[in-house]
Amino acid sequence: MQISRRSLLKITGIGVLLMGNLPRVAFAARNALKSMRTGVQPGNKSRLVIETVARPSYTLSYPQNQLVVSLANTPANQSIRAKLADGSLVKSVSQVQMGDRLQITANLTKNIGQIPKNQIMVLEPNGDNDYRLVLDFAAGTPISIAADTTPAKVTSQKRIIVIDAGHGGKDPGCIGKAGTREKTVVLAVAKKLKNKLDAAGFKTYLTRSTDVYLKLGERAAIAERRKADLFLSLHANANPSRSVKGFSIYTLSEKASDEEARKLAEAENAADKIDVDGFEQFSKDIRIALSSLQQHAVAEMSEEYATGCSKSFRSASITQQPGPGVRHAPFAVLRSTVPGALLELGHLSNAAEEKLLSSDAHQNKLVNAIVKSVKGYNFDV
Ligand SMILES: [Zn+2]
Repeated sequence: MQISRRSLLKITGIGVLLMGNLPRVAFAARNALKSMRTGVQPGNKSRLVIETVARPSYTLSYPQNQLVVSLANTPANQSIRAKLADGSLVKSVSQVQMGDRLQITANLTKNIGQIPKNQIMVLEPNGDNDYRLVLDFAAGTPISIAADTTPAKVTSQKRIIVIDAGHGGKDPGCIGKAGTREKTVVLAVAKKLKNKLDAAGFKTYLTRSTDVYLKLGERAAIAERRKADLFLSLHANANPSRSVKGFSIYTLSEKASDEEARKLAEAENAADKIDVDGFEQFSKDIRIALSSLQQHAVAEMSEEYATGCSKSFRSASITQQPGPGVRHAPFAVLRSTVPGALLELGHLSNAAEEKLLSSDAHQNKLVNAIVKSVKGYNFDV
């Protein structure tokens, strides 16, 4: 399925809110329900699709064995019955009018946990379809909200960040004129970042905490295994021209945004040429688990993070490499279902930045800017 993420997919929901904590927002346009269906997705996931004539404004909640979707400014229409697919967690779907909201309840065979943001999509109209709210979910631990009448806390869950120090072991990455190795600098920054993010209330994991070589696919697999909310791959850059300096932030795209980005991805991906086997197997597994729609949702979220990160660096007066604040290229390490970015922290090929990158003070400055960007990233909406 070929879909341009810009034209077809935007994550626009008000967000994942809990029962008893629904926002009161005035909407000008009235909406109408058009169809409902369920489906089964790879990886034991069930899918609920709600089609509406206008862009849906919705909230989600998760009572026992139910998924409740509340649509703003939408009248009930009992003539519309959900088409139920065999093998999904959804047994039946019912509608009820709640003031000006339409409450759609999917009765499930099992409890589900809060649906992660990257598995909630709003698709723009195309062909015969109008707007579609697409929710993918699997059986899991429910969040405890049932008997609580006070507004539930959404922030009780710690957000998980996987920090990837690029290169390592037999792969030094790029090397500065004074001999500074990329693998050493980024590991030092990764460790500092872990400490600060832990202190800020995040749960973090490092892909490597020592000078070891890890395949790119393994790094991405760690993010998957840890069920990370965000994946940050730390690197330092090199340029044939020693005068080039500054940071740049990258997200995954199969097509590079510019020639420089394409070359960089080629250079970073070359790490796997040192030890090729293993990646193919991994990427095959991931490909099966990924629907292309999900990939687009992940791309949107990564873009959002990267834009905030680039801003945070600039506001900390860290020099930006001339060009766009966020660029795109096919980095193998970013191929996963976890939103994330590859951060080129500066240029080791530039003498002044090589010095900066190896200094404690500058490393702390970089870390503070990244922490700020993570705190500013909206994990929920
Ligand atoms: Zn690198």
